[in-house]
Amino acid sequence: TEIIDKDVVIIGSGYGGSVAALRLCEKNIPVTLLEMGLDWEKSGKKFSAMSNPGHSAAWLKTKSIAPFFNLFSLEKFTGALDRLDYEHIKIWVGRGVGGGSLVNGGMAVTPKMEYFKEMFPTLDTDKFYSHYFPLANKELKTNVASEEFLEDCDFYKFNRVGEEEAHKAGYKTVRVPNVYDFKYMEQEYKNEVPRSALAGEVIYGNNHGKNSLDKTYLRKATATRKLEILELHQVNHITQNSDKSYSLDISVINTKGEEIQHKIIKTKKLIMAAGTMGSLELLLKSQAKTQFPIDQNIGKEWGNNGNFMTGRNWVKAFSGGTGFQQSTIPVGGIDHWEDEKYPFFVEIAPLPMGMNVATSLYLMVNKLKKFGGVSYDVKSEKLDLDWNKSHTAHMKDNAKYFLRSMNKANGGTRAHMLFHNGFGADVCYHPLGGIVLGKATDQFGRLNGHQNLYVIDGSLIPGTIGVNPFVTITAIAEYCMEEIIKKDFA
Ligand code: FAD
Repeated sequence: TEIIDKDVVIIGSGYGGSVAALRLCEKNIPVTLLEMGLDWEKSGKKFSAMSNPGHSAAWLKTKSIAPFFNLFSLEKFTGALDRLDYEHIKIWVGRGVGGGSLVNGGMAVTPKMEYFKEMFPTLDTDKFYSHYFPLANKELKTNVASEEFLEDCDFYKFNRVGEEEAHKAGYKTVRVPNVYDFKYMEQEYKNEVPRSALAGEVIYGNNHGKNSLDKTYLRKATATRKLEILELHQVNHITQNSDKSYSLDISVINTKGEEIQHKIIKTKKLIMAAGTMGSLELLLKSQAKTQFPIDQNIGKEWGNNGNFMTGRNWVKAFSGGTGFQQSTIPVGGIDHWEDEKYPFFVEIAPLPMGMNVATSLYLMVNKLKKFGGVSYDVKSEKLDLDWNKSHTAHMKDNAKYFLRSMNKANGGTRAHMLFHNGFGADVCYHPLGGIVLGKATDQFGRLNGHQNLYVIDGSLIPGTIGVNPFVTITAIAEYCMEEIIKKDFA
């Protein structure tokens, strides 16, 4: 076992980890970034399209793990998409340098100010909306598609149909910004550049067009020459040493997931950015294994961000379905958040199956009525989730209401083909919370009871934020790192 000393270590290269890396490196502070997944850019390997799952399709699994139509066998490989299975919920996460940004739909949504205030009553809302959110959107390269293009492009028929039907049912729709470069997509459409969003790439990674973190925050951080990225470094657990430094037990793995080297990295300052599930697992497991001191609030106020998937089938005799070809990048949402009885936000999601399906897919984001909880089961050495149907019952009521109103106005039925009974209550893309800002940490992500340990990722958000979460995660990371660098790295 090799033992190595480092000054500053970040675990995980998603939104939190990438913001932390850039802001530290800019101040000339050398940073080591540990990522269990592959550095896809460096590897030169291609991401696979949804229709043809290959190396990038799943993290060390022998079958593909997309939310539906899982008919594909795979060779075990450190792919970009992982799925964590619990009794009542399946949680999808990204793996690789760039974390979730590699596999997500790129929807870059700033939350509603009122709801942000409700979730974070102690934060300076004005400063967030005048500074941290605009900063996050600028660095992430958020942009909006031109209406002309969306009107014209065959690949957005699914969105035009989705919006039209929503309007008929009396709903208000909104344009949703994205980090996919829409100028690039316009060129794709004209066949001037290689296609990505228009070639069915997204959930297993995009080869072009998407401004994932490796193209934004991490590229800038790398340019400072202060950043060392160690890929395929899986942190197993953490020990606190008597001098208050931290020792990380690490397996360096090959692309088959086999340990090829065992390492201990010792560091004075540790930033945990392994994502909601990753940071929770590391802290809770370390407590069980090494008596690592953790706050009693860790594991509390966890939620699925109100994620609930559903869909509709319908038959339109002459006008056809949602189009033979669909862009993988969503651009439309249905905003019903202000409704008192049935408040929700719906992503009009693409379903790029290469055939003209008369099926619409929706990812609903609901409020939470009841938090879930996360603990560690020593026997199975896995996280245990306190999460069941009682947590999603009101989301199902919302989905029923939504589908009924859409079907009444437009015809159609619940999409039984996509999900059992047409309801995907167990599909979660947005796990949040469990290490909540101001509860398990101070107001800036410093973990309670520790001097040099920080948590900077989705786990800081108390279970729900009302929209797709990565813009919020990025803005909160910017806010925390500003203070931490000023006070703790001076
Ligand atoms: P992550 O991005 O999850 O990064 C954590 C990183 O830490 C990962 O790379 C992981 O491999 C690494 N890691 C974990 N444990 C360890 C360990 N022990 N050792 C070493 N490394 C470790 N959000 C939106 O806002 N808009 C969208 O359109 C959207 N679409 C989505 C679609 C899909 C299919 C999925 C899965 C998610 C989507 N999301 C979307 C959610 C968004 O991607 C996540 O909320 C976001 O990535 C979380 O950021 P994070 O910084 O908390 O952690």
